Amino acid sequence: MSKLKYIFVSGGVISGLGKGVTVAALAATIEARGYRVSPMKIDMYLNIDAGILNPKEHGEVFVTDDGMETDQDIGNYERFLGKSLSRSNYMTTGQVYKSVIDRERAFYYGGKTVEVIPHVTDEIINRIKSLGEEQAADIVIAELGGSVGEYQNDIFFEAARLFKLEYPENVLHIHVAYLPVPAHLGEMKTKPLQQSVRLLNERGIRPDFVIGRYDSGFAIDEQRRKKIALYCNVTFEEVISNPNADTIYKIPSIFEEQRFAEKVLYKLNLSPFKSVNMKPWNDLVNRIEQSGKNIKIGLAGKYFKVGSYVLSDVYISVIEALKHACWSYEGNPEIEWIDSEDIEKYGVAKYLKDLNGIVVPGGFGETKIDGIYEAIRYARENKIPYLGLCYGMQLSAIEFARNVCGLSDGDTTEINPLTINPIIHIMPEQDKKLLNKEYGGTMRLGKWNCLLKEGTLVHKAYGSDCISERHRHRYEFNNTYREILEKYGMIFSGTSTHGNIIEILELPEDKHPFFVGVQFHPEFKSRPIAPHPLFKAFIGKCLQ
Ligand code: GLN
Repeated sequence: MSKLKYIFVSGGVISGLGKGVTVAALAATIEARGYRVSPMKIDMYLNIDAGILNPKEHGEVFVTDDGMETDQDIGNYERFLGKSLSRSNYMTTGQVYKSVIDRERAFYYGGKTVEVIPHVTDEIINRIKSLGEEQAADIVIAELGGSVGEYQNDIFFEAARLFKLEYPENVLHIHVAYLPVPAHLGEMKTKPLQQSVRLLNERGIRPDFVIGRYDSGFAIDEQRRKKIALYCNVTFEEVISNPNADTIYKIPSIFEEQRFAEKVLYKLNLSPFKSVNMKPWNDLVNRIEQSGKNIKIGLAGKYFKVGSYVLSDVYISVIEALKHACWSYEGNPEIEWIDSEDIEKYGVAKYLKDLNGIVVPGGFGETKIDGIYEAIRYARENKIPYLGLCYGMQLSAIEFARNVCGLSDGDTTEINPLTINPIIHIMPEQDKKLLNKEYGGTMRLGKWNCLLKEGTLVHKAYGSDCISERHRHRYEFNNTYREILEKYGMIFSGTSTHGNIIEILELPEDKHPFFVGVQFHPEFKSRPIAPHPLFKAFIGKCLQ
């Protein structure tokens, strides 16, 4: 019998329940007891990864150290667990089918008919098992993306059912569902949740715990918990409240109050009391609650609006990294979304003059970005702390070339392929990939080392000569322009160890308090309990 334990977390009633945060918080409270948890996100679409999905539809693409372009939930897991995950922590329908079909072509099945059951379900089960073994985990928590009852998801629910059949002692099913409070009734209704559990039952799965998600700060009352327990076939104690919290980092404590991790471990025949250390989480929550002074940070870019809503999920890691750094100074982050086109329409000062700092995050091939250039110029000229992330670094190099070095037609070939001054141009090996239409998973991805120049802002921030950060780009600073930008005062403070890629640019401290652009994505490595050094240095300057 396998020693490894498995937990499957499914969702129902609506999407966007925060299942990822639920999984991350449960995993964190289990790890606080000395167990090793490997979380896995399962996305039920045919894409191999999240790399070429439209971020407006799917949210942020989170990049792992080993260069996988994953769903943003992997970011939640990393932030809550304080550890780096890998490509094995992410599975999609596309990956599963591709492996099975590739094997079929290689005569692996020896002439047998290859079928969804058992071949596809076996592949799913094997991937989950090998994740646990590869990462020497005690428990694997697999988050089933989407909702129960969607036709395309059924194969994964079937695999989850078979798992329990194979290891009845070692597998738990947890179902998270929405509890609406319709405004005209003013009362919490449990029927949609009951029906969601019924859909799960139809797939042969009986939940061990039912988690109610809802939009208020209170616990589910006794009456409704009893009702949920009765109709969902669980005990009163197995109904868990997951209310809206003012910060997601309170969820671990909310689960602790209900002894959730303890109950889960008990059901898995693991001792819940091996050791319990919730101190880092309690300290974090105290720090967040004590955070008083407001720090206003503007995020200037595109991609923000879908209809009349701001889609903050596209930059979730940037937002979280800013929060982590602000809290470390007991500051309260106030994030302003500044749309490039609004800047063009209404003028840059209107949006930027009251800010403590400005961030330009990553982006791809967008047009109508003149507003972003204006924001960068405003930050540079008015000495407002500036942090450019990836595209934000590239655009700051162009802004400097145009407005300081006199290269007024400087541009990136991503937007203007015919520019005579390609300050940013495509990396040589990337060119061929695009010509061959090799788009998926082919950017410069994942962790790469970068050497820092002594005496610079970033060297002080990191306190190190060599750092490792995660990347996701096809274009780079064109070294032909290095000398001229340097002549006008730009410092190239970070370069790749392999080759000559400019990784960081900054302005001298006597010219500007903090003007830094990085070709990588430091936001992916910031954790609430360990804020990122570069974001800390930036927020430190914002506070002055
Ligand atoms: N579009 C730019 C590139 O591909 C920047 C990418 C990014 O911001 N992640 O190089």
